[in-house]
Amino acid sequence: VQHDGGNAVCFYTPEMAAAATRRMLLTVHLTHAIERNEMYLVYQPIVDAKTGRVVSAEALLRWNHESLGAVSPGEFIPVAEESGLIVPLTDWVLSTAIGQMMRWNAEGVLPERVFLNISGQQFLRGNLTLRLEELLSGCPELRPHLGLEITEQAAVRDLKVAVKTLGELSALGIQTAIDDFGSGYSSLSYVQQLPVAKLKIDRAFVIDVPDNPKSNALVRAAVGMAHGLGLTTVAEGVETVEQRDFLVSVGCDLLQGYHFGRPMMPDLLADMVREQRQP
Ligand code: C2E
Ligand code: CA
Ligand code: CA
Ligand code: CA
Repeated sequence: VQHDGGNAVCFYTPEMAAAATRRMLLTVHLTHAIERNEMYLVYQPIVDAKTGRVVSAEALLRWNHESLGAVSPGEFIPVAEESGLIVPLTDWVLSTAIGQMMRWNAEGVLPERVFLNISGQQFLRGNLTLRLEELLSGCPELRPHLGLEITEQAAVRDLKVAVKTLGELSALGIQTAIDDFGSGYSSLSYVQQLPVAKLKIDRAFVIDVPDNPKSNALVRAAVGMAHGLGLTTVAEGVETVEQRDFLVSVGCDLLQGYHFGRPMMPDLLADMVREQRQP
């Protein structure tokens, strides 16, 4: 126990020690995860709110370690960011997803857009555009099918770099979305400055509609503001019919959540797309 002069006391609890040990363990195992084929991508459908058809998908990373079992991205992504392992990991996500998109394209089941998550660190590093150009050089036809999700916090951390990178990506035909909108501390004036095409409304708001009038007002305002700025809106975490109906009623453009489909293996997503394309 450390006494901090005044009346503030800092404890190192056994829980904190355990958490540090766990982070260290994850870092060690994460170093080998790619070469040991422990990583894979699942894809969650994103549907058109008006028609209910699957138009896009979000790629989500999964890690299955032989002794740790399934570790959630909510736990290992922050560890990867802290350790710098996010750089090779993101590269793996980009090349794996693009490879998958090529196969889907060949089978005629490529969604309009496939969105990948880019961590703030990776986004602000500067060579993301170059790397994507390189990966897409053999398959330029995929460019208009690729989308990137960047969190609000990342974009706001270095607005200048963010504006530049987002501009470069859009020049390549790659669409960008602000992820987890509303969950951060950023002000609306930032969003206006960011050249993005989509706004993803955080699940934290969606979870409370339509029973919480305040959440309803916030979601309605976010959709209205996005449309006013010429942006498309996506609501994430849609689990119920009531949530869906509310989001449709306020004009949200795209919907994503367990109600429409969980993150799934690529073949299952292809089946969904194929079924809906049949006349
Ligand atoms: P996110 O980008 O906000 O992704 C949405 C999360 O919500 C996913 O969790 C998804 O499985 C979950 N979700 C979708 N619909 C529902 C629903 O109806 N109800 C509930 N309760 N949850 C729903 P997941 O896959 O565990 O990913 C967590 C976070 O990890 C992601 O949040 C993202 O920030 C990060 N992440 C995942 N994959 C990657 C990746 O490839 N790269 C990076 N940098 N981050 C990733
Ligand atoms: Ca996301
Ligand atoms: Ca999100
Ligand atoms: Ca989130």
